[in-house]
Amino acid sequence: MYDFLIVGAGFAGCVLAERLTSQLGKTVLLIDRRPHLGGNAYDEVNGAGHLIHRYGPHIFHTNSAEIFGYLSAFTAWRPYEHRVLADLGKDKQVPIPINRTTLNQVFGLSLTTDDAAEVFLAARREPMPNILTSEDAVVAAVGRELYELFFRGYTQKQWGCDPRQLDASVTSRVPTRTNDDDRYFTDRFQAMPVRGYTEMFKAMINQPGLEVRLNTDFSEVAHHAYDRLIYTGPIDAFFDYRFGPLPYRSLCFDHQTLSKAWRQSVGTINYPSPDVPYTRITEYKHITGQTSDSTSITIEYPVEEGDPYYPIPNPVSGARFKRYEALAREQAGVIFVGRLATYKYLNMDQVIGQALAAYRRLARIETAR
Ligand code: FAD
Ligand code: UDP
Repeated sequence: MYDFLIVGAGFAGCVLAERLTSQLGKTVLLIDRRPHLGGNAYDEVNGAGHLIHRYGPHIFHTNSAEIFGYLSAFTAWRPYEHRVLADLGKDKQVPIPINRTTLNQVFGLSLTTDDAAEVFLAARREPMPNILTSEDAVVAAVGRELYELFFRGYTQKQWGCDPRQLDASVTSRVPTRTNDDDRYFTDRFQAMPVRGYTEMFKAMINQPGLEVRLNTDFSEVAHHAYDRLIYTGPIDAFFDYRFGPLPYRSLCFDHQTLSKAWRQSVGTINYPSPDVPYTRITEYKHITGQTSDSTSITIEYPVEEGDPYYPIPNPVSGARFKRYEALAREQAGVIFVGRLATYKYLNMDQVIGQALAAYRRLARIETAR
Protein backbone atom coordinates (compact mmCIF):
# COMPACT_ATOMS: atom_id res chain seq x y z
CA MET A 1 0.00 0.00 0.00
CA TYR A 2 1.48 3.33 -1.09
CA ASP A 3 0.29 6.81 -0.21
CA PHE A 4 0.94 7.90 -3.82
CA LEU A 5 1.41 6.28 -7.20
CA ILE A 6 3.25 8.68 -9.53
CA VAL A 7 3.13 7.91 -13.25
CA GLY A 8 6.11 9.38 -15.14
CA ALA A 9 9.63 9.99 -13.79
CA GLY A 10 10.36 13.26 -15.60
CA PHE A 11 10.66 16.60 -13.81
CA ALA A 12 6.99 16.64 -12.77
CA GLY A 13 7.07 13.13 -11.30
CA CYS A 14 10.52 13.33 -9.68
CA VAL A 15 9.91 16.69 -8.00
CA LEU A 16 6.63 15.49 -6.49
CA ALA A 17 8.11 12.12 -5.46
CA GLU A 18 11.03 13.89 -3.77
CA ARG A 19 8.87 16.44 -1.93
CA LEU A 20 6.20 14.01 -0.75
CA THR A 21 8.74 11.56 0.68
CA SER A 22 11.36 13.95 2.07
CA GLN A 23 9.01 16.59 3.46
CA LEU A 24 5.80 14.76 4.35
CA GLY A 25 7.19 11.26 5.00
CA LYS A 26 4.79 9.73 2.45
CA THR A 27 5.35 6.43 0.70
CA VAL A 28 5.54 6.74 -3.08
CA LEU A 29 5.75 4.33 -6.00
CA LEU A 30 7.24 6.25 -8.97
CA ILE A 31 6.99 4.48 -12.32
CA ASP A 32 8.02 5.18 -15.90
CA ARG A 33 7.54 3.08 -18.98
CA ARG A 34 10.93 4.15 -20.26
CA PRO A 35 14.07 2.38 -19.01
CA HIS A 36 15.44 5.53 -17.34
CA LEU A 37 14.66 8.49 -15.09
CA GLY A 38 14.37 12.10 -16.19
CA GLY A 39 11.74 11.99 -18.92
CA ASN A 40 12.78 14.09 -21.89
CA ALA A 41 15.58 15.73 -19.88
CA TYR A 42 17.46 12.42 -19.62
CA ASP A 43 21.16 12.65 -20.53
CA GLU A 44 23.84 9.98 -20.84
CA VAL A 45 27.51 9.50 -21.66
CA ASN A 46 27.92 8.09 -25.18
CA GLY A 47 30.60 5.76 -26.55
CA ALA A 48 32.97 8.68 -27.14
CA GLY A 49 32.70 9.81 -23.52
CA HIS A 50 30.55 12.85 -24.34
CA LEU A 51 27.54 13.76 -22.20
CA ILE A 52 24.62 14.01 -24.64
CA HIS A 53 20.87 14.54 -24.35
CA ARG A 54 18.93 11.60 -25.78
CA TYR A 55 15.80 13.67 -26.43
CA GLY A 56 17.40 16.84 -27.80
CA PRO A 57 19.22 19.75 -26.17
CA HIS A 58 17.94 20.80 -22.74
CA ILE A 59 19.26 24.15 -21.57
CA PHE A 60 18.31 25.14 -18.04
CA HIS A 61 17.20 28.72 -17.47
CA THR A 62 14.87 30.38 -14.98
CA ASN A 63 14.08 33.69 -13.34
CA SER A 64 12.92 31.93 -10.20
CA ALA A 65 15.34 31.90 -7.27
CA GLU A 66 13.02 29.38 -5.61
CA ILE A 67 13.26 26.89 -8.47
CA PHE A 68 17.01 27.33 -8.89
CA GLY A 69 17.47 26.98 -5.14
CA TYR A 70 15.32 23.85 -5.04
CA LEU A 71 17.41 22.06 -7.70
CA SER A 72 20.65 23.25 -6.10
CA ALA A 73 20.05 20.80 -3.27
CA PHE A 74 20.66 17.99 -5.78
CA THR A 75 23.36 19.32 -8.09
CA ALA A 76 26.23 21.76 -8.46
CA TRP A 77 26.11 23.96 -11.55
CA ARG A 78 28.21 24.96 -14.54
CA PRO A 79 27.35 28.52 -15.58
CA TYR A 80 26.29 28.41 -19.22
CA GLU A 81 24.61 30.98 -21.46
CA HIS A 82 23.22 29.46 -24.64
CA ARG A 83 23.90 31.12 -27.98
CA VAL A 84 22.22 30.25 -31.27
CA LEU A 85 23.02 31.25 -34.85
CA ALA A 86 20.59 31.00 -37.75
CA ASP A 87 22.18 29.56 -40.88
CA LEU A 88 20.95 31.54 -43.89
CA GLY A 89 23.03 29.58 -46.42
CA LYS A 90 25.98 30.85 -48.46
CA ASP A 91 28.15 30.73 -45.31
CA LYS A 92 26.01 33.34 -43.57
CA GLN A 93 25.24 32.66 -39.90
CA VAL A 94 23.63 35.39 -37.83
CA PRO A 95 22.36 35.67 -34.23
CA ILE A 96 18.83 34.51 -33.38
CA PRO A 97 16.83 35.95 -31.53
CA ILE A 98 16.98 38.82 -33.99
CA ASN A 99 19.11 41.58 -32.48
CA ARG A 100 20.97 44.64 -33.78
CA THR A 101 23.85 42.49 -35.05
CA THR A 102 21.35 40.37 -37.00
CA LEU A 103 19.87 43.47 -38.64
CA ASN A 104 23.31 44.83 -39.52
CA GLN A 105 24.46 41.51 -41.01
CA VAL A 106 21.25 40.73 -42.92
CA PHE A 107 20.75 44.19 -44.39
CA GLY A 108 24.40 45.40 -44.57
CA LEU A 109 23.71 48.20 -42.09
CA SER A 110 25.77 49.76 -39.34
CA LEU A 111 23.15 50.54 -36.71
CA THR A 112 24.98 51.40 -33.51
CA THR A 113 22.23 52.23 -31.02
CA ASP A 114 19.05 50.66 -29.69
CA ASP A 115 17.12 53.68 -30.93
CA ALA A 116 18.42 53.26 -34.47
CA ALA A 117 17.49 49.57 -34.47
CA GLU A 118 14.06 50.41 -33.06
CA VAL A 119 13.42 52.98 -35.84
CA PHE A 120 14.53 50.43 -38.43
CA LEU A 121 12.19 47.74 -37.06
CA ALA A 122 9.30 50.18 -36.59
CA ALA A 123 9.36 50.90 -40.31
CA ARG A 124 9.06 47.16 -41.10
CA ARG A 125 6.46 46.12 -38.54
CA GLU A 126 2.93 45.54 -39.75
CA PRO A 127 0.36 47.01 -37.36
CA MET A 128 -1.79 44.16 -36.08
CA PRO A 129 -4.92 44.95 -34.02
CA ASN A 130 -5.29 41.33 -32.89
CA ILE A 131 -2.25 39.11 -32.58
CA LEU A 132 -3.76 35.64 -32.83
CA THR A 133 -1.40 33.42 -34.79
CA SER A 134 2.32 32.63 -34.83
CA GLU A 135 2.57 34.56 -38.11
CA ASP A 136 0.86 37.62 -36.59
CA ALA A 137 3.23 37.65 -33.63
CA VAL A 138 6.37 37.79 -35.77
CA VAL A 139 5.07 40.07 -38.52
CA ALA A 140 3.89 42.52 -35.86
CA ALA A 141 7.33 42.49 -34.24
CA VAL A 142 9.75 42.51 -37.19
CA GLY A 143 7.80 42.64 -40.45
CA ARG A 144 7.26 40.17 -43.24
CA GLU A 145 10.74 39.92 -44.73
CA LEU A 146 12.40 38.86 -41.48
CA TYR A 147 9.44 36.58 -40.78
CA GLU A 148 10.01 34.81 -44.09
CA LEU A 149 13.75 34.57 -43.51
CA PHE A 150 13.80 33.29 -39.94
CA PHE A 151 10.39 31.97 -38.95
CA ARG A 152 8.17 30.72 -41.75
CA GLY A 153 10.25 27.78 -42.94
CA TYR A 154 11.48 26.77 -39.48
CA THR A 155 7.98 26.84 -38.03
CA GLN A 156 6.48 24.97 -40.97
CA LYS A 157 9.10 22.23 -40.52
CA GLN A 158 8.93 22.10 -36.72
CA TRP A 159 5.16 21.95 -36.47
CA GLY A 160 4.11 20.46 -39.81
CA CYS A 161 1.65 23.30 -40.43
CA ASP A 162 1.56 26.90 -41.54
CA PRO A 163 2.40 29.42 -38.77
CA ARG A 164 -1.07 30.88 -39.34
CA GLN A 165 -2.48 27.66 -37.87
CA LEU A 166 -0.54 27.97 -34.61
CA ASP A 167 -1.27 30.15 -31.59
CA ALA A 168 0.82 33.30 -31.26
CA SER A 169 2.33 31.89 -28.05
CA VAL A 170 4.62 29.57 -30.06
CA THR A 171 6.73 32.11 -31.93
CA SER A 172 6.29 34.65 -29.11
CA ARG A 173 8.73 32.51 -27.14
CA VAL A 174 11.48 34.09 -29.24
CA PRO A 175 11.98 37.79 -28.41
CA THR A 176 13.20 40.61 -30.69
CA ARG A 177 16.04 42.79 -29.45
CA THR A 178 17.36 46.18 -30.45
CA ASN A 179 20.61 45.73 -28.50
CA ASP A 180 23.46 43.36 -29.35
CA ASP A 181 22.76 40.79 -26.62
CA ASP A 182 23.20 37.50 -28.48
CA ARG A 183 22.20 35.12 -25.69
CA TYR A 184 19.21 32.88 -26.45
CA PHE A 185 17.81 33.47 -22.94
CA THR A 186 18.08 36.45 -20.63
CA ASP A 187 16.90 34.71 -17.45
CA ARG A 188 18.56 35.49 -14.14
CA PHE A 189 19.75 31.91 -13.63
CA GLN A 190 21.33 30.08 -16.56
CA ALA A 191 23.37 26.99 -15.78
CA MET A 192 23.74 23.27 -16.46
CA PRO A 193 23.86 20.54 -13.80
CA VAL A 194 27.60 19.83 -13.51
CA ARG A 195 27.28 16.04 -13.79
CA GLY A 196 24.19 16.16 -15.97
CA TYR A 197 20.44 15.94 -15.44
CA THR A 198 20.35 12.18 -14.87
CA GLU A 199 22.76 12.39 -11.92
CA MET A 200 20.63 15.19 -10.51
CA PHE A 201 17.47 13.06 -10.85
CA LYS A 202 19.23 10.16 -9.11
CA ALA A 203 20.01 12.42 -6.14
CA MET A 204 16.40 13.63 -6.05
CA ILE A 205 14.85 10.20 -5.85
CA ASN A 206 17.26 8.84 -3.23
CA GLN A 207 14.70 9.10 -0.42
CA PRO A 208 13.38 6.64 2.17
CA GLY A 209 9.83 5.60 1.31
CA LEU A 210 10.36 6.17 -2.44
CA GLU A 211 10.35 3.13 -4.70
CA VAL A 212 11.12 3.50 -8.42
CA ARG A 213 10.09 1.02 -11.11
CA LEU A 214 11.29 1.66 -14.64
CA ASN A 215 10.11 -0.19 -17.77
CA THR A 216 6.69 -0.15 -16.14
CA ASP A 217 3.54 1.13 -17.79
CA PHE A 218 0.66 2.60 -15.80
CA SER A 219 -1.58 -0.24 -17.00
CA GLU A 220 0.71 -2.75 -15.25
CA VAL A 221 0.37 -1.16 -11.81
CA ALA A 222 -3.07 0.44 -11.98
CA HIS A 223 -4.39 -2.39 -9.79
CA HIS A 224 -1.82 -1.65 -7.02
CA ALA A 225 -3.12 -0.28 -3.77
CA TYR A 226 -2.48 3.43 -3.40
CA ASP A 227 -4.28 6.32 -1.81
CA ARG A 228 -3.80 8.97 -4.49
CA LEU A 229 -2.52 9.12 -8.05
CA ILE A 230 -0.26 11.71 -9.68
CA TYR A 231 -0.33 11.40 -13.45
CA THR A 232 2.24 13.13 -15.69
CA GLY A 233 1.64 11.30 -18.99
CA PRO A 234 -0.55 12.51 -21.89
CA ILE A 235 -3.99 13.50 -20.62
CA ASP A 236 -5.84 12.14 -23.68
CA ALA A 237 -4.32 8.67 -23.08
CA PHE A 238 -5.47 8.75 -19.44
CA PHE A 239 -9.07 9.09 -20.62
CA ASP A 240 -8.71 6.52 -23.43
CA TYR A 241 -8.92 9.28 -26.05
CA ARG A 242 -12.60 9.73 -25.24
CA PHE A 243 -12.83 13.08 -27.03
CA GLY A 244 -10.33 12.08 -29.72
CA PRO A 245 -6.52 12.30 -29.63
CA LEU A 246 -4.77 15.57 -28.85
CA PRO A 247 -2.17 16.46 -31.47
CA TYR A 248 1.52 16.27 -30.50
CA ARG A 249 4.59 16.97 -32.60
CA SER A 250 7.44 14.48 -32.49
CA LEU A 251 11.12 14.58 -33.43
CA CYS A 252 13.64 12.14 -34.80
CA PHE A 253 17.08 12.67 -33.23
CA ASP A 254 20.15 11.86 -35.31
CA HIS A 255 22.99 11.60 -32.76
CA GLN A 256 26.44 11.65 -34.33
CA THR A 257 30.04 11.74 -33.14
CA LEU A 258 32.48 13.49 -35.48
CA SER A 259 36.22 12.90 -35.50
CA LYS A 260 37.14 16.54 -35.22
CA ALA A 261 37.32 18.81 -32.19
CA TRP A 262 34.50 21.19 -33.12
CA ARG A 263 31.68 21.37 -35.68
CA GLN A 264 30.28 24.84 -35.01
CA SER A 265 31.02 28.05 -33.12
CA VAL A 266 27.99 27.99 -30.77
CA GLY A 267 25.81 25.45 -28.94
CA THR A 268 23.03 25.39 -31.52
CA ILE A 269 22.68 26.37 -35.16
CA ASN A 270 19.14 26.79 -36.49
CA TYR A 271 18.33 26.09 -40.15
CA PRO A 272 15.27 28.17 -41.04
CA SER A 273 15.32 27.29 -44.75
CA PRO A 274 12.47 25.06 -45.92
CA ASP A 275 14.99 23.36 -48.23
CA VAL A 276 16.93 21.86 -45.29
CA PRO A 277 15.03 18.90 -43.81
CA TYR A 278 16.16 19.42 -40.20
CA THR A 279 15.52 22.36 -37.86
CA ARG A 280 18.67 22.59 -35.75
CA ILE A 281 22.03 21.04 -34.88
CA THR A 282 23.39 21.11 -31.34
CA GLU A 283 27.00 20.46 -30.33
CA TYR A 284 27.17 19.34 -26.71
CA LYS A 285 30.72 20.32 -25.75
CA HIS A 286 29.70 23.99 -25.81
CA ILE A 287 27.01 23.19 -23.26
CA THR A 288 28.86 20.76 -20.99
CA GLY A 289 32.35 22.28 -21.15
CA GLN A 290 33.87 18.85 -21.85
CA THR A 291 37.19 18.73 -23.70
CA SER A 292 37.87 16.07 -26.33
CA ASP A 293 39.49 15.57 -29.74
CA SER A 294 36.10 14.47 -31.08
CA THR A 295 32.66 16.05 -30.76
CA SER A 296 29.05 14.89 -30.51
CA ILE A 297 26.07 16.55 -32.14
CA THR A 298 22.34 16.00 -32.48
CA ILE A 299 20.39 16.85 -35.63
CA GLU A 300 16.63 17.29 -35.11
CA TYR A 301 14.16 16.16 -37.75
CA PRO A 302 10.53 16.98 -36.93
CA VAL A 303 8.12 14.10 -37.59
CA GLU A 304 4.41 13.39 -37.39
CA GLU A 305 4.50 10.05 -35.56
CA GLY A 306 6.49 9.11 -32.48
CA ASP A 307 6.88 10.06 -28.82
CA PRO A 308 4.70 13.05 -27.91
CA TYR A 309 7.27 15.84 -27.46
CA TYR A 310 5.37 19.05 -28.15
CA PRO A 311 1.69 19.83 -27.51
CA ILE A 312 0.52 21.74 -30.61
CA PRO A 313 -1.12 25.00 -29.45
CA ASN A 314 -3.99 25.94 -31.75
CA PRO A 315 -7.69 26.74 -31.28
CA VAL A 316 -8.88 23.19 -32.09
CA SER A 317 -6.46 21.39 -29.74
CA GLY A 318 -7.13 24.03 -27.06
CA ALA A 319 -10.88 23.37 -27.20
CA ARG A 320 -10.37 19.60 -27.08
CA PHE A 321 -7.96 19.92 -24.15
CA LYS A 322 -10.53 21.97 -22.24
CA ARG A 323 -12.94 19.02 -22.42
CA TYR A 324 -10.28 16.69 -21.02
CA GLU A 325 -9.40 19.27 -18.38
CA ALA A 326 -13.04 19.42 -17.22
CA LEU A 327 -13.02 15.63 -16.90
CA ALA A 328 -9.72 15.75 -14.99
CA ARG A 329 -11.24 18.15 -12.45
CA GLU A 330 -13.90 15.57 -11.62
CA GLN A 331 -11.32 12.86 -10.82
CA ALA A 332 -11.13 12.86 -7.04
CA GLY A 333 -7.76 11.58 -5.87
CA VAL A 334 -5.98 12.16 -9.18
CA ILE A 335 -3.60 15.06 -9.80
CA PHE A 336 -2.50 15.98 -13.33
CA VAL A 337 0.91 17.67 -13.56
CA GLY A 338 3.50 18.38 -16.28
CA ARG A 339 3.80 19.21 -19.93
CA LEU A 340 1.77 16.25 -21.25
CA ALA A 341 -0.86 16.04 -18.50
CA THR A 342 -1.68 19.76 -18.66
CA TYR A 343 -1.08 19.91 -22.44
CA LYS A 344 1.04 23.06 -22.16
CA TYR A 345 4.25 23.98 -23.98
CA LEU A 346 6.22 24.36 -20.75
CA ASN A 347 9.95 24.70 -20.14
CA MET A 348 11.63 22.63 -17.45
CA ASP A 349 11.54 25.39 -14.85
CA GLN A 350 7.82 25.93 -15.46
CA VAL A 351 7.14 22.23 -14.93
CA ILE A 352 9.15 22.33 -11.70
CA GLY A 353 7.14 25.39 -10.62
CA GLN A 354 3.91 23.57 -11.43
CA ALA A 355 5.02 20.49 -9.46
CA LEU A 356 6.11 22.56 -6.45
CA ALA A 357 2.74 24.36 -6.48
CA ALA A 358 0.93 20.99 -6.61
CA TYR A 359 3.08 19.82 -3.69
CA ARG A 360 2.17 22.91 -1.64
CA ARG A 361 -1.54 22.25 -2.22
CA LEU A 362 -1.11 18.64 -1.09
CA ALA A 363 0.88 19.71 1.96
CA ARG A 364 -1.89 22.13 2.96
CA ILE A 365 -4.46 19.35 2.72
CA GLU A 366 -2.24 17.09 4.84
CA THR A 367 -1.78 19.64 7.60
CA ALA A 368 -5.55 20.34 7.62
CA ARG A 369 -6.29 16.62 8.08
P1 FAD B 1 8.28 14.35 -19.48
O1 FAD B 1 9.71 14.71 -19.37
O2 FAD B 1 7.70 14.09 -20.84
O3 FAD B 1 8.02 13.07 -18.55
C1 FAD B 1 6.83 12.32 -18.60
C2 FAD B 1 7.19 10.87 -18.39
O4 FAD B 1 5.98 10.11 -18.26
C3 FAD B 1 7.95 10.26 -19.56
O5 FAD B 1 9.22 9.79 -19.13
C4 FAD B 1 7.05 9.11 -20.04
O6 FAD B 1 7.79 7.95 -20.42
C5 FAD B 1 6.22 8.83 -18.80
N1 FAD B 1 4.91 8.24 -19.11
C6 FAD B 1 3.95 8.73 -19.92
N2 FAD B 1 2.89 7.89 -19.96
C7 FAD B 1 3.19 6.83 -19.14
C8 FAD B 1 2.51 5.62 -18.79
N3 FAD B 1 1.27 5.33 -19.26
N4 FAD B 1 3.14 4.77 -17.95
C9 FAD B 1 4.38 5.03 -17.48
N5 FAD B 1 5.07 6.16 -17.78
C10 FAD B 1 4.49 7.05 -18.62
N6 FAD B 1 12.88 22.85 -21.55
C11 FAD B 1 13.77 23.78 -21.11
O7 FAD B 1 13.56 24.37 -20.04
N7 FAD B 1 14.92 24.07 -21.82
C12 FAD B 1 15.22 23.43 -22.99
O8 FAD B 1 16.26 23.71 -23.62
C13 FAD B 1 14.30 22.45 -23.47
N8 FAD B 1 14.56 21.81 -24.62
C14 FAD B 1 13.69 20.86 -25.07
C15 FAD B 1 13.99 20.20 -26.25
C16 FAD B 1 13.14 19.21 -26.73
C17 FAD B 1 13.47 18.50 -28.00
C18 FAD B 1 11.94 18.89 -26.00
C19 FAD B 1 11.00 17.83 -26.50
C20 FAD B 1 11.64 19.55 -24.83
C21 FAD B 1 12.50 20.55 -24.34
N9 FAD B 1 12.25 21.22 -23.15
C22 FAD B 1 13.13 22.18 -22.70
C23 FAD B 1 11.02 20.95 -22.36
C24 FAD B 1 11.25 19.87 -21.28
O9 FAD B 1 11.59 18.66 -21.91
C25 FAD B 1 9.97 19.70 -20.48
O10 FAD B 1 9.52 20.92 -19.92
C26 FAD B 1 10.09 18.71 -19.32
O11 FAD B 1 10.97 17.67 -19.58
C27 FAD B 1 8.71 18.17 -19.00
O12 FAD B 1 8.75 17.33 -17.88
P2 FAD B 1 7.48 16.42 -17.57
O13 FAD B 1 7.82 15.64 -16.33
O14 FAD B 1 6.25 17.21 -17.58
O15 FAD B 1 7.34 15.45 -18.84
N1 UDP C 1 11.34 29.64 -34.31
C1 UDP C 1 11.62 29.89 -35.64
N2 UDP C 1 12.92 30.11 -36.01
C2 UDP C 1 13.94 30.05 -35.14
C3 UDP C 1 13.65 29.78 -33.78
C4 UDP C 1 12.34 29.57 -33.41
O1 UDP C 1 10.72 29.92 -36.47
O2 UDP C 1 15.10 30.23 -35.55
C5 UDP C 1 9.93 29.41 -33.92
C6 UDP C 1 9.51 27.96 -34.14
O3 UDP C 1 8.13 27.92 -34.45
C7 UDP C 1 9.79 27.35 -32.78
C8 UDP C 1 9.31 28.48 -31.87
O4 UDP C 1 9.74 29.68 -32.54
O5 UDP C 1 9.08 26.16 -32.61
C9 UDP C 1 9.85 28.46 -30.47
O6 UDP C 1 11.27 28.39 -30.51
P1 UDP C 1 12.10 27.71 -29.32
O7 UDP C 1 13.54 27.87 -29.64
O8 UDP C 1 11.62 28.24 -28.03
O9 UDP C 1 11.68 26.17 -29.47
P2 UDP C 1 12.06 24.88 -28.61
O10 UDP C 1 13.45 25.09 -28.08
O11 UDP C 1 11.03 24.75 -27.54
O12 UDP C 1 12.00 23.78 -29.60
